[in-house]
Amino acid sequence: MRYAILSDIHGNLEAFEAVLEDLRGTDIQKRIFLGDIVGYGPNPEECITLLREKFDVMIAGNHDWAAIGKTDIQAFNSVARKAIEWTSAQLSPEYKKFLIDLPLKKEESSLTFVHATPLNPQDWNYIFSGNEAIRNLRALKRDLCFVGHSHIPAVFVLSDLDELFFSSNFTELILDEKIRFLINVGSVGQPRDGFSLASYGVLDTEKKMFYLRRVKYALETTQQKIISAGLPSILAERLARGW
Ligand code: ZN
Repeated sequence: MRYAILSDIHGNLEAFEAVLEDLRGTDIQKRIFLGDIVGYGPNPEECITLLREKFDVMIAGNHDWAAIGKTDIQAFNSVARKAIEWTSAQLSPEYKKFLIDLPLKKEESSLTFVHATPLNPQDWNYIFSGNEAIRNLRALKRDLCFVGHSHIPAVFVLSDLDELFFSSNFTELILDEKIRFLINVGSVGQPRDGFSLASYGVLDTEKKMFYLRRVKYALETTQQKIISAGLPSILAERLARGW
C-alpha cells in the first residue's frame, strides 16, 4: 500500500494544489491528512472542499479546533490569533461542522496518525526534545507514527537497543519492524525549516520505505491573497523565508 501523508495546509490553496499535482499519476491508494487545514492562509473553505473530496483519513489540528472555539487561543501568538479570528469569520456553519467532527487520532495496521503527539494529543505539545520523543515512542502501540504540528520535517527513531536517534536532514528512510519511527512530514502550507517548498511524505508499506517530497508552488499568489484579505503581512513574508 502506498500512502500520501500531508499536514499543516493552513488555507494555502496554491501549495495544496501543487502537492496534489505532484501526486498525479503516482500509484497512491490512500491519502492521509494530519491536521491544520485552516489558520494563517487565505483560502480556508477552498482547502476544506478539496480535502473532503480527495482524502481518506483526516485528523484535527490545533488551528482547526481554535477556529471553532474547541481550543483556547490564549496560547497562540498575536499573529496566529488574528488569523484564527479572520478564519473563523470566513467559515460557514457547514464548514465549521466538518472541523468539529474531525478526530484527534487514527490508527490502522502498524500506523498511527496524529497532529501533535500520540500521547495526550489534545494538549498540542511539540516533540522538540529527546525526552519528549522517547516518552512518545515508548508509548506507541504501533511501529510507525506520523505527525505534523511543528512544520519541520524530522524523524525520531527508537532502535531495538532502546537508543534514540534523530534527523531533520533526510529524503528517504528505510523502515524496519524492529524499530519504532516517529516521522514529522513537515508542512504543505507554511514550511518552517528554512525552505519555502511545500513538504509532504509518501509511505510505501510493501517496499518498507518513506520518502519526503518537497514541491515548488506559486507562493507569490498566496502572498498577494494574504495581503488582500487583510491578514497580517508577516504571514505573507514568512512563506518566502520558510521560517
Ligand atoms: Zn500548523
